[in-house]
Amino acid sequence: MKKRSLKERLDKGPVICAEGFLFEIEKRGYMSSGEFVPMVSLENPEALLNLHRDFQHAGSDIVQAFTYNGHREKMRVIGKEELLEPLNRAALQIAKDVAISPMGKEENLMAGNISNSNIWNQNDKKSQLEVEKMFQEMVAWAVDEDADILIGETFYYAEEAYKALKVMKESGLPSVITIAPYGENIMRDGISILDTCKELEQIGGDVVGMNCHRGPNTMMPYLKEIRKKLKCHVAGLPITYRTTDDHPTFFNLPDDNGCSCPSPHETTFPTALDPMQCSRYEIGEFAKQAYDLGINYLGVCCGATPMLIREVAEAVGLKVPASKYRENMENHYMFGKNKRIPKHIKDYRNKA
Ligand SMILES: [Zn+2]
Repeated sequence: MKKRSLKERLDKGPVICAEGFLFEIEKRGYMSSGEFVPMVSLENPEALLNLHRDFQHAGSDIVQAFTYNGHREKMRVIGKEELLEPLNRAALQIAKDVAISPMGKEENLMAGNISNSNIWNQNDKKSQLEVEKMFQEMVAWAVDEDADILIGETFYYAEEAYKALKVMKESGLPSVITIAPYGENIMRDGISILDTCKELEQIGGDVVGMNCHRGPNTMMPYLKEIRKKLKCHVAGLPITYRTTDDHPTFFNLPDDNGCSCPSPHETTFPTALDPMQCSRYEIGEFAKQAYDLGINYLGVCCGATPMLIREVAEAVGLKVPASKYRENMENHYMFGKNKRIPKHIKDYRNKA
């Protein structure tokens, strides 16, 4: 089967993209939380390959190279700048290997990835030039390793997102760009969420939208506005935590769930968010609602697990390899309806 372009796929229906590898790889034991550098592509490549395979099995159509935070500035912070290019190339090659060996008939799309640099300063042209160079070298490696598309994500400065998109567009590859405003509900350089997205469409984003920082509850209101005002395809990839109007992002999300042993850090982020995790049904409901609005590029970011990616896919009508193992309460030993289940076991359910 001929591999279709991103646009061909989006014009026809939903496209699923798993993100959130930072949290999931950390949970699997291959990354330090807080520091969050994706050394896994060099140090434990098989763990990264397995992560991609698990998300592919769950229905991700895009294999996004794990280079989030794998940029020159972060490598300087940890004193390993010399590993920057090897890290990027290894991550891209692993993603490509997975993308070209799909579980269904059609190859997946491999995506190169750039993201928030955390040194962008709206009042300092020198920092902006530095960031531009970081984007350029990562995009060049992605093109060299045969990426099908590029994803720029998690930008909280509008101007940095514009810069990222311009650099991605120079490659000629289809470009997805998603922003992640903080709790003030505005970009850090004072531009509104909607205006930022409008400008990203003008610059030529093939897909424009939001990812990360916000859970379904505090991302959906903005996605509705964005979908109404933009003509291009729109993306929605929330984190999988129950953010609220008082705490729109996961950075200051309080634990209101009877916690008896608070996180040793200032907030529950990033190591004690578990009690605020959305259920699979909440994530499925988000995906269905977004798709019904006309948002075809869907996924989840931090907190993503293969189980939740399957939920997103199934919520928009897709059947994926992991659908074989979706829940089957029928045969549960106590809650099931299977006629082999003894009556005295079934009848005890409310006291269990
Ligand atoms: Zn995220």
